[in-house]
This record gives sequence, structure tokens and C-alpha cells, in this order.
Amino acid sequence: MTATLFTKGSLLGASPAMFVGGEWVTTDGTRPVDNPATGEVFTAVPEGKQEHIEDALARASAAQKEWARRSYVERAAVLEEIIRHIDAHAEELAQIVVAEQGKTITEARGEVGGAKAFFDYAASQKYRNVGELAAPAAHGQQLVIREEPVGIVAAIIPWNFPAAIFARKVAPALMAGNAIVLKPSEVTPLSALAMAKVCQLAGVPDGLISVITGPGRVIGAALVEHPLVSMVTVTGSTRAGKEILAKASDKIIPVSLELGGKAPVIVFDDADLDLAVQQAFEARFWNCGQVCTCNERTYVQRGVYDEFVKRFVAKVQDLKVGDPLDDTSQMGPKVSQAEWDKVKAFVDAAVEAGAKVETGGGRPDGMEDSGGYWFAPTVLTNVTNHMEIVQQEVFGPVLPIIPFDTYKEVIEWANSTVYGLTSHVYTENFRTAMRATDDLEFGEVYINRIGPEEVQGFHTGWKLSGLGGDDGVHGFERYTRRKTVYTDYGSST
Ligand code: NAD
Repeated sequence: MTATLFTKGSLLGASPAMFVGGEWVTTDGTRPVDNPATGEVFTAVPEGKQEHIEDALARASAAQKEWARRSYVERAAVLEEIIRHIDAHAEELAQIVVAEQGKTITEARGEVGGAKAFFDYAASQKYRNVGELAAPAAHGQQLVIREEPVGIVAAIIPWNFPAAIFARKVAPALMAGNAIVLKPSEVTPLSALAMAKVCQLAGVPDGLISVITGPGRVIGAALVEHPLVSMVTVTGSTRAGKEILAKASDKIIPVSLELGGKAPVIVFDDADLDLAVQQAFEARFWNCGQVCTCNERTYVQRGVYDEFVKRFVAKVQDLKVGDPLDDTSQMGPKVSQAEWDKVKAFVDAAVEAGAKVETGGGRPDGMEDSGGYWFAPTVLTNVTNHMEIVQQEVFGPVLPIIPFDTYKEVIEWANSTVYGLTSHVYTENFRTAMRATDDLEFGEVYINRIGPEEVQGFHTGWKLSGLGGDDGVHGFERYTRRKTVYTDYGSST
């Protein structure tokens, strides 16, 4: 099936090239890309070098100056054209996401819809207020605080939503008048290259978007350090975020970080149990557990614990793991062998520490001989809050379910990790819901519902989950800076 992605008229062409300052370039060195469902290498992408970074940034610098002179309405017209081209290539984009990332085709189609929504929201900013008028000290004077683009944005993105996170960064960066150079994950470079092609077809001026493929600590780090880059936006692990923040501090440029999470789902005795079981299930196994907002640990109040576990395990045993291109599959493979090994090590350590495997625990039955990175949906009980599997981000299809007795105890446990991105609460009691909203130390609280987050919200991690954030008006503002203009036009006599 991957052969159809590489034809003369396809988004990726006969073989993938890198997008540097409006040109499609190839290099001597390449990096293989494999299919997580089979483990087979199906293509390779150019490995970026310093010279590509220099070219991309020089072209970005020239292009940005012209772009910033266009009005918001004119920029929005280009974004609206991108939406039309995403629509025209939606199925091809979804197939590319599946081929390199492994999520199911249903989820990949949802991701492409999400990519469109980011451009739609950014385009909606065409009528925003772009400044403030402060009261001047004297008559005949004006004091304006203007919104301006930051210049050139470097965006570093992960593998779990390779098309949508491209859009999450590129859409607001462009709308605010910036150029952007994006480095996709080494594991999933194709979706970003295909999205760049869509942007080119939509008429985005040359140089405004570049995509440079290669390793984070080489290409990503070189972008962060480059004098022409005036802002960095990252979605990735806390480890990468810390390294990037340290490097950016030398230049004192704005950095926005969307990092790891360890979202709790808290189910109180009075919850609607059908709803809680269904949504805890969806929020755990979405994209094979590889979503920063995923349900990473579920705390269930003692009175309904046994019933919750019984119903949850039954659902998990019915979950259809299989070919991601099959419309009926509910879960695909992990993205890579390294990720598979990491998740297996978490499960083994938990079992060693006393956890009981209710279902799953390793490769799914019947997939022992597959070269793909298949991991069975797994439920663990007999787990305590201090265990590593409850404290560290697992990012895989493994759920520890932990009983609790009191409100105070569960809020303490929910707040006990170094992460603070997303949290979920299930209760029919309004007071409990509102108190939990006050007490949870997370940038996002979901009450009796799960994500995905919405483009007009603000996706922001507290603690080691991030700095700044994406989406909505607050995310958009990150791509702007302020200029205060003092004018004296003379007092009328
Ligand atoms: P990762 O940190 O390994 O890589 C993310 C990106 O950073 C990649 O492009 C990588 O090449 C680059 N990178 C890594 N080290 C770097 C360095 N020192 N300098 C510059 N660039 C560097 O993360 P991943 O494994 O691709 O993605 C999974 C992680 O992303 C999880 O922790 C997940 O929670 C997080 N994530 C967070 C959000 C969010 O919105 N908060 C969304 C999606 C994923």
C-alpha cells in the first residue's frame, strides 16, 4: 500500500525530498522510515545538514519581511487556501500518517481534520484586535501598544500527531506574520513534508515555510542556537524541552514548550459508571496510548472499584487490535521498537514491584511473529501510587487502576507527579467537581468528559509539562511581540 504514496503526482513525489526555502532538495545521506505495523523500511528521507539550515533561514528572513507587510485579511486568504488543499488531499495525508506512525486510518482521518481546524482557527484571527491604546500623559499625545510578529520561528515536533502538530505550529506562526522552519521527528518526517507540499500548492510564498529533517540534537539544536531564529516552539518530551530551554537561554528568545503528561482519571463513587468506563477506555487506548493527554492512571473510589475494573477489563478484552488500514481496527501498533521496549520495561518493573496483569502485558496473541511494534492493551491492578508506572509517563496502551478512599487522598495522589498537563474527574456531585477543579494542579481539567482539546481553548502544561502553550488567543499571542509607540501630534489650542 505504501507504493501508492510515491508516484509522480503524489504529495511526496517519487521519493521524499526536503523542503528548504521553497526548493525540494535531496542529499547524499538519508534516514530510513519504517512502517510500525510491519517493521519494514519503505522509504528514506534526506538527512539535513547545517547548509540547509543556513539556506532555509536566509530565505525565511527575506520572505518574512514581505509577508509581515500583508494584512491579516490577506494572510487569512492564504490559510483558507491551505484548508482547501488539505481537503483535496485529505485521504492521501491520512494514509501517510498511518504508514509512518501506525495509528488507525480512522484516527488518521481525524488527525487530518484536526490539522484543518488549526488553520481555520488561525484564519479566524483576521479580525482580531492588534493592539491597545493606553491613556497618554498629555492631550495631543498617543500611546499605542502594537502587536508585531516575532520574525522566524523554529518549530520542533514529535511523532504522535505528525500532521496535526505541523498545523498547530505553522498556522498561528504564519497568521501572525512570521516565517517558520520546522523539524519533524526522525521517526515520522513524511507527514510534515507532505503538509509542506500542501502549503506550497496553496500558494504560500517560497521561503516562508521550510521543513528540515534530521536528529533533534543536531538539526533541532542548530535551529535553536541560530542567530536568525527569534522564537522556538516545541512539542515533545520533558527531557528535550529542558535541553532546548537551556540552549535558548543563551539568546534570551521566547520558548513555548508542550511536554510530557501523566493525566489522571478520577472516578468518584457517585460517578456515572458507564460513562466513566467508556471514556477512561477511549482516553487510554487512543493512538495506542500515545497522546500527551491520555489517561495514564485511573483512580477509582473504593465503593465502585471492583465493578469498574470488571467492566473495564471486559471492554479491553474486546478491543480490536489490528491492521491500521482496516476501518474496523480500534488500535494500531506502537510507533517504534524503542517505544515498545520502553513500555515493556515499565510493565515488567511494575510486575516486579507487585502489580497484577489483568489482561495484556506484552505482544498480543497471534502477533508473536509480526515484525511490527504491536503491544496488547494492558490493565494493571494491585498498583500503588508511588510505583514508577504511576509516576512516570508511559505513553503506551497500559493502564494502572488504583483504589482510593477519600477526596483528600486522591487529589494528593493526582498532584503527586512532576507533570501537570491534563486531568479528568467523574462525579455527579457539583461541589466535588468544582472543588477538584480548584485543587488539581494541571493546565487542563475535564469534568465528565475527555478530549481532544479544542482549537479555541488553551493547551498549557503546568510543572514539567511545559511553558506557555498552544491554541486559542493565548496560544496565538505567543507568536507575537509588542511594540509601544509614543506619539506627540500637538495639543489643539
Ligand atoms: P522527543 O522529545 O523525543 O522528540 C520531540 C522532538 O524534539 C523531535 O523532533 C526530536 O528530534 C526533537 N529533539 C529531541 N531532543 C532535542 C534537543 N536536544 N534539541 C532539539 N530538538 C530535540 O519526543 P517524542 O518521543 O517525539 O514525542 C513524545 C513526547 O512528546 C511525549 O513525552 C509526549 O507527552 C510529548 N507530547 C506532548 C504534547 C503536548 O501537547 N504537551 C503533545 C504531543 C506529544
